[in-house]
Amino acid sequence: MTSSETAPLRARAEIDLAALRANVRALRALAPGAALMAVVKSDAYGHGAVPCARAAQAAGAEWLGTATPEEALALRAAGLSGRVLCWLWTPGGPWRQAVEADVDVSVSGMWALREVCDAARAAGTPARVHLKADTGLGRNGCQPADWPELVAESLRAQAAGLVTVVGLWSHLACADEPGHPSIRSQLDCFREMVAHAEEQGVRPEVRHIANSPATLTLPEAHFDLVRTGIAVYGVSPSPELGTSADLGLRPVMSLKASLALVKRVPGGHGVSYGHLYTTPGSTTLGLVPVGYADGIPRHASGTGPVLVDGKLRTVAGRIAMDQFVVDLGGDEPPPGTEAVLFGPGDHGEPTAEDWAQAAGTIAYEIVTRIGTRVPRVYMNVEDEHHDV
Ligand SMILES: *Cc1c(COP(=O)(O)O)cnc(C)c1O
Repeated sequence: MTSSETAPLRARAEIDLAALRANVRALRALAPGAALMAVVKSDAYGHGAVPCARAAQAAGAEWLGTATPEEALALRAAGLSGRVLCWLWTPGGPWRQAVEADVDVSVSGMWALREVCDAARAAGTPARVHLKADTGLGRNGCQPADWPELVAESLRAQAAGLVTVVGLWSHLACADEPGHPSIRSQLDCFREMVAHAEEQGVRPEVRHIANSPATLTLPEAHFDLVRTGIAVYGVSPSPELGTSADLGLRPVMSLKASLALVKRVPGGHGVSYGHLYTTPGSTTLGLVPVGYADGIPRHASGTGPVLVDGKLRTVAGRIAMDQFVVDLGGDEPPPGTEAVLFGPGDHGEPTAEDWAQAAGTIAYEIVTRIGTRVPRVYMNVEDEHHDV
């Protein structure tokens, strides 16, 4: 180990890969009839795409999923094998590279089918295509009215040896609100669109619609493959579904910083930009050297929770670009003392879900926005179940 690895860090995001593997195993047990895709888009929700993808595969994830083709190609460049699907394409995208890298692609409309056919012709290899249906989300995907044409043209391209339609899929709008009427109508619509494609001759290897909340709460949505993102990282998709602990998941990321300064100040002292906080009496302040440039939401000014020296503290005043302050109430832990912004929550520390609540957002946004200035430190890289 070099000294820079042992030196206390300004800040670090510890990534517990044993927790990630346990989450993948728990999710596979919840959807025993389906294969599992670990969604590792956006650098694995801020956790680091390559180490997380490897850990997910070690725990039995048969598929990896990304939004952009560039993210999928980066997994291949890092040496990852196995099935990879990417779904967020724009005209002129790297279709040919995807085909040549054996990456599955999503097609939501005719422009995409034309581009993937051109790429397959150039590569001399058929593309593996998942046709995406808009069953009611109203975002990406093919509308029911346009589906017959997309299916027919895809089958024509398949007959010409340019594509293999391996997947039929869709995405849910309100899976995190169990009982929402759109869930039922989207599932009905999905079944109809799948049935139409199958009647026309599509023989999909996988039909898939479930994200994390649907994997956790809606077995009838599991079909052949579940696409789990946030749950793989041990974070609850929404407070309505309970905490990660309620769901049997373990948070993977812990965000920690070292106090940069502890000092005594008199009462009535303004703290940080705008003086939104004034010390109520003589007290001590701790300087936490992370800010909104590191992904700490400025909206959590005055509300974000931090565990310092065994005590839960609250952000005092504004969160600045690189730092914020906590009122330590007269305690004087030495500079360098660890401040835990969030972690699994079983040692009194807050969770990412607590930060989401403090900032008025969702926990997805908390973990995905932790900045590149914060080094990721990987723990439990070796698979303890390796030879079980
Ligand atoms: C991000 C994403 C997922 C994963 O969603 P989670 O709620 O994080 O499980 C699944 N499918 C698609 C299409 C996505 O974009």
